[in-house]
Amino acid sequence: MARIIGIDFGTTNSVISTIDNGKPVVIPNSSGDTLTPSAVAFQKNGDVLIGRTAKNQAVINSERTFLSIKRHMGADFRARLDGVSYSSQMIAAMIMRRLKQDAEKYLGETVEHAVITVPAYFSDAQRQAVKDAGKLSGLNVLRIINEPTAAALSYGIRSEGSELIAVFDLGGGTYDISILEVCDGVVEVKATSGNNHLGGDDFDSVLIEYIAKDFQRKNNIDLTKDRMALQKLREDAEKAKIMLSEASEISISIPFITADNTGPKHLDITINREVFEKLVAPLLEKLIAPAKQALEDAGLMPEQIDRVLLVGGSTRIPAVQQAIEQFMGKPVSKSVNPVECVATGAAIQAGILAGEIKDLILVDITPMTLGIETEGNRFIPIIKRNTSIPCSDFKTFTTISDNQRVVEVHILQGESDRASANISLGKFQLSGVRQAPRGEPRIEVTFSIDANGIVSVAAVDLDTNHSQAITIKEMNRPTDSQLETQGLFIERKLG
Ligand code: ADP
Ligand code: MG
Repeated sequence: MARIIGIDFGTTNSVISTIDNGKPVVIPNSSGDTLTPSAVAFQKNGDVLIGRTAKNQAVINSERTFLSIKRHMGADFRARLDGVSYSSQMIAAMIMRRLKQDAEKYLGETVEHAVITVPAYFSDAQRQAVKDAGKLSGLNVLRIINEPTAAALSYGIRSEGSELIAVFDLGGGTYDISILEVCDGVVEVKATSGNNHLGGDDFDSVLIEYIAKDFQRKNNIDLTKDRMALQKLREDAEKAKIMLSEASEISISIPFITADNTGPKHLDITINREVFEKLVAPLLEKLIAPAKQALEDAGLMPEQIDRVLLVGGSTRIPAVQQAIEQFMGKPVSKSVNPVECVATGAAIQAGILAGEIKDLILVDITPMTLGIETEGNRFIPIIKRNTSIPCSDFKTFTTISDNQRVVEVHILQGESDRASANISLGKFQLSGVRQAPRGEPRIEVTFSIDANGIVSVAAVDLDTNHSQAITIKEMNRPTDSQLETQGLFIERKLG
């Protein structure tokens, strides 16, 4: 099989990985970095910047820069720039295309296939949007897998035995906590929780505020009002924060950061870890409530968890690790790189699919029961929650009135026997039902969930063979021909 890559398409950073000689390796981008900021900037001259260069001009070119496009996947997002209307899929695809190109440059061969990761709580529409973005980028997306599952694969979770795992993922802008149970090769995501607005960016902001206040006291100038100065400060504050994960004290020096009528001003400040930890204490506190929630939803106590895995750049902060260890009452596993483990897990899954890795199988499960509505607001389950995917099952239904020609199939997801209490995923009509007294026609409804967690439903009248099928998707999902046009556009823009 042609080369497959694993992609961790992150809110802040994306990482690519592949399997070489049976081992996962992270692929550096064309600047030699393993992390590519998930940033896209459209320049006035028509050029598109992706990654570090896009991120570095974000503050001064904010209207034309996209920093966290992952947050908009599966939503009706549109950005109009220079007469072109961009969907979130198109912008995500530009990042993925650059990742593909970088992988090809590094490997010296073409890359056709990919396994891409998504957060465990991503809905069907969000998964579909990520898959479409992969397609637009020119990749054949073999599989969408859950980020915590990928992390578990990297941490060497094996298919034998049973283990309860907590995965703490603190990235640039989001915090996810997932409780997984791995049992005989099946990964069950038992609960997820988190905070969509908590991450490394907040740690940067706290530092920026502290530094700007210090500067104001010394120079009587508010740096946060000066775009250029703020851009420089943002970059240096992040660097300082990263250095503080290793060093106990750091100095920031930005000569000529700004000027007033008395001349140029220089920024100089020394910050030690103790000060940093005091500043971020309110952020550390916010890690606990979602973790409590996830454990409670899973019906578990912290001491029942066998392993605590760390994911995301911000779990490199010693105080973050301490807060997690203190709450969980056990040391965190540190055997793998938290920034790379999701991508390497995706590559391992790719290796399993390609047959290069043989002694490992991990299978995700469907987190909610799927079924349809019948008379009297009743919910009839067809695929029960916790079934390992891919899977398919059917049930036979009938009509409720004489000579009924059309049957409406209302697809729902949830655990209540009352249809209206569950989540509606869509409706479709089966027409051409055989005219017959009520209760006589036999209509078979089949649900399938593919390995990516994407649901499709088909109904057939077993007497007339009239059938109707749909893949659950949001209305705003592009058609195949739209995808093709958009894909060509991206190819023209990025080569
Ligand atoms: P995401 O999953 O959101 O795309 P990442 O997992 O790559 O993001 O995390 C990015 C965040 O991690 C950034 O805020 C970055 O500053 C932070 N980070 C990376 N390395 C370190 C480090 N050694 N110490 C502290 N923070 C770090
Ligand atoms: Mg991530």
